Amino acid sequence: MTILIVGAGILGLSHAYAAAKRGLKVHVFERTHTPLGASVRNFGQALVTGQPPGVMLDLAQASRGIWGDWAQRAGFDLKRNGSYLFARTEAEEHLLDAFCQGRAREFGYRAELLRGAQKDALYDGQFSHHRAALHGLDDQQVYSREAIPALVQYLQRELGVEFHFSTLVRDVEPGHIRTTTGRFNGTQVIVCSGHDYQTLLAEPLATLKPQICRLQMLRVRPKVDLQLQHSLLTGLSCVHYGAFADLPQAAAVQADILRDSPHLDQHGIHLLISPTPYGELIVGDSHDYSRDPSPFNGEQVDNWMLQLCEETLGCEVQVVERWQGVYGARGAQPFTWLDVAPGVSAALMHTGVGMSVGPAMGERNIARLLGEA
Ligand SMILES: Cc1cc2nc3c(=O)[nH]c(=O)nc-3n(C[C@H](O)[C@H](O)[C@H](O)COP(=O)(O)OP(=O)(O)OC[C@H]3O[C@@H](n4cnc5c(N)ncnc54)[C@H](O)[C@@H]3O)c2cc1C
Repeated sequence: MTILIVGAGILGLSHAYAAAKRGLKVHVFERTHTPLGASVRNFGQALVTGQPPGVMLDLAQASRGIWGDWAQRAGFDLKRNGSYLFARTEAEEHLLDAFCQGRAREFGYRAELLRGAQKDALYDGQFSHHRAALHGLDDQQVYSREAIPALVQYLQRELGVEFHFSTLVRDVEPGHIRTTTGRFNGTQVIVCSGHDYQTLLAEPLATLKPQICRLQMLRVRPKVDLQLQHSLLTGLSCVHYGAFADLPQAAAVQADILRDSPHLDQHGIHLLISPTPYGELIVGDSHDYSRDPSPFNGEQVDNWMLQLCEETLGCEVQVVERWQGVYGARGAQPFTWLDVAPGVSAALMHTGVGMSVGPAMGERNIARLLGEA
């Protein structure tokens, strides 16, 4: 059985891994010379703590171990110390407290709320100005721009996956695909084309009414040598992530945001900070939803995010790089597996957590295709 996969982002690579480790012949087709899509533009946070109970939490928990295996076999940096989500206000602290007392226990999130001396001891007191810190023990951090290429190398070297870079797939049909470097035959085609809804399968994908989210991102150097080893979030993320957003206490957090900083709500700004292996930090993000993403970044949006970042870290930062990230968003479901024709399917994310759940999605989809599940 030969599997033809379109796209070398995290979804394409996850499906390639799951198929190749079962001994199937796998080809991956990527239009750029190296992956340059959402999977390398992101924070690299593989978050369990933020996922809503149910399938997303299950997938994130199952993905955790796969990331661990990959890091070891492919040799990329994986931080396994978890995340700190800081409560900056009374409302944020109440929400995190309620999460720990209720949902975390009920659904098995491994998280603890640090207060007082425990919180003040973090990074020599650097975060003592916050009210509390939720330590998400299962959250992991990769440096995507290194991890994704390392994963490609590993799949090529150890599992015999054949990569066809700088190759645009023009058309997919049962049994074959047509590309800019020729026609290839295969038993099953899996389209993992990210937020490109126009090149392939345009009509079936249009029925999903997909949208695109555009995010502003920065890489910064902190003026204090923090040697950060954890992913950082604040209470702002609680109105964004499904683990918290539907708890009754989230309403007060949202009301505070609307009263004190409506611009954050208007631009979908919620602060994430990710450590790179080199002492620098990836900072973002804003959320701008549309059918076609605007190419124009607002400087004011970057300034608001930098201000939040400096307040959260308690130190100044210097910007070293800026970019735009884009991902598929706001479908009816958080992700889709679409059987388009016999032997032709599409696997797509519609929310910004593909790094957190993608590895286990690949595993489950391939198991189901082969009749194992
Ligand atoms: C700024 C930003 C921050 C994020 N942060 C996080 C985070 O911290 N944690 C998390 O879990 N998720 C995060 N996400 C979301 C996550 O990155 C995405 O959900 C995930 O990367 C989507 O993976 P993908 O493989 O579907 O898409 P992509 O990575 O975009 O890959 C799709 C690939 O398909 C290729 N392709 C498309 N059409 C064709 C064609 N016809 N022929 C050949 N190749 C084709 C494209 O070139 C591309 O390389 C973030 C996203 C962004 C943009």
